[in-house]
Amino acid sequence: MEIVHISAECYPIAKAGGLGDVVGALPKYQQQLGHLAKVVMPMYRSKYLYNHEWDLVHESGTYLGNTWFRYAVIKEKTNELGFDLFLVDINGLLDREKVYGYDDDTERFTAFQIAVVHWLSTWKHRPDVVHVHDHHTGLIPFMMKYCYAYQTLRSIKTVFTIHNGQYQGWMGWNKSHYLPSFDNWKSGMLDWKGTINPLAAAVKCADHVTTVSQSYMDELRYNANGLEDLFEFEKGKCIGILNGIDTEVWDPETDPLLPYNYGISDVHEGKMLNKKSACTHFGLDADKPLFIFIGRLVGEKAAEILAPSIAASIEEFQDELNFIVLGSGDPQLEDELQYLQQQFPNQMSCYIGYNEQLAHQLYAAADFLLMPSRIEPCGLNQMYALRYGTVPMVRNTGGLRDTVVDISAPNFTGFGLLFDNPTVEDLTHAIHRAAGWYFEQPEILLEARKKMMEIDHSWTKSAAEYIDLYQLAAI
Ligand code: ADP
Repeated sequence: MEIVHISAECYPIAKAGGLGDVVGALPKYQQQLGHLAKVVMPMYRSKYLYNHEWDLVHESGTYLGNTWFRYAVIKEKTNELGFDLFLVDINGLLDREKVYGYDDDTERFTAFQIAVVHWLSTWKHRPDVVHVHDHHTGLIPFMMKYCYAYQTLRSIKTVFTIHNGQYQGWMGWNKSHYLPSFDNWKSGMLDWKGTINPLAAAVKCADHVTTVSQSYMDELRYNANGLEDLFEFEKGKCIGILNGIDTEVWDPETDPLLPYNYGISDVHEGKMLNKKSACTHFGLDADKPLFIFIGRLVGEKAAEILAPSIAASIEEFQDELNFIVLGSGDPQLEDELQYLQQQFPNQMSCYIGYNEQLAHQLYAAADFLLMPSRIEPCGLNQMYALRYGTVPMVRNTGGLRDTVVDISAPNFTGFGLLFDNPTVEDLTHAIHRAAGWYFEQPEILLEARKKMMEIDHSWTKSAAEYIDLYQLAAI
């Protein structure tokens, strides 16, 4: 089959979170299963762009509302990522350093989607599936079905994957003229409660909808930032397919970003060496258990309970614990964590910002990963932690529920720590449990590490599930 993935992010070109990881890996594994997978994304001013060579494959122009814009499509020459990578260049709109966060994001991503559909309509053949990801590409199934200019794309099957249903790309109806002219009788397909809602439009118009875990799919029917009724109504075409991880990029035995590589047989020694290296760098003591948090400092991740829980745990354990936080987001939370670091410089450290290399090093160095998320569609961090032998301590929600089994589970099947609420009480209690385990039952920790590292979260199974879904769509 020929599959065209369209996304705002794709690792290693541009990544702001899990979406980038997934779009950078899934097509590679689909190729390995014998299919032709392509990725189309905006041309940002990324390092990757300047460090690679490109062929110009298409140049044309079209309209965003009344504004004419030119666009170009370039393709990476060597296919080094294991799939065809296409970047769409729209001068002045997409060629920025950051992926998101500009006042004109609506115009940027609407123009991107129009350019992609315009380009697809010039192809001499039709791909089997157009697979769009999150709201930034959510208008594409609508345009392919109902815009007069793109009727030739109507028969192509579309799949929409929700990586995060909180952000929906809302835009006022005063911007409806941005879209190429469409059948007005179908405007209800764009609408949710009086605004154009690209995420809702994709759920309504795509042939199939997936989320990145089954538990998250179930949760969306009662917690979907206003779209609960829509998910209840459309449940027949929605399924959850758990994300995999790229086990080539995330492999402690070969990861070039680690100071020390290790495998299951030397996990204890290997992790200790990485821990010493990280603790020396951050001024912490490697003989104490190390808890880390990596991620966006936002409410979705329950980041506001981190500082108080860390402070309470440090006090309870009389300086016997270490914490490192890597993340950025809400400025007030960033300040709180930096203040905590000043208060407890020998127990707590933080790095405010985004640092891919440090993330790899911390997964390898840590004993425990904290993930108290309020909402977690799949969550990749806990799967990276498992692969690196780091015990995930997660809230019982979404993809976390589908991937972590509490240590207390019957028949010694457990390996992580689960708690129910995103509250200071629950998180400190979980830290209390973990510390007790570290100090009193180190042999259980070693067993759990080995068990976790043996779990197969590679993409092979999930990539095949997507292919089954495409085949179902084709019937
Ligand atoms: P989300 O997409 O909701 O942010 P996921 O768990 O799906 O969360 O994916 C997060 C990805 O982003 C992981 O690869 C994680 O390691 C990475 N990440 C998040 N914040 C940072 C950061 N500050 N520095 C480095 N990597 C980060």
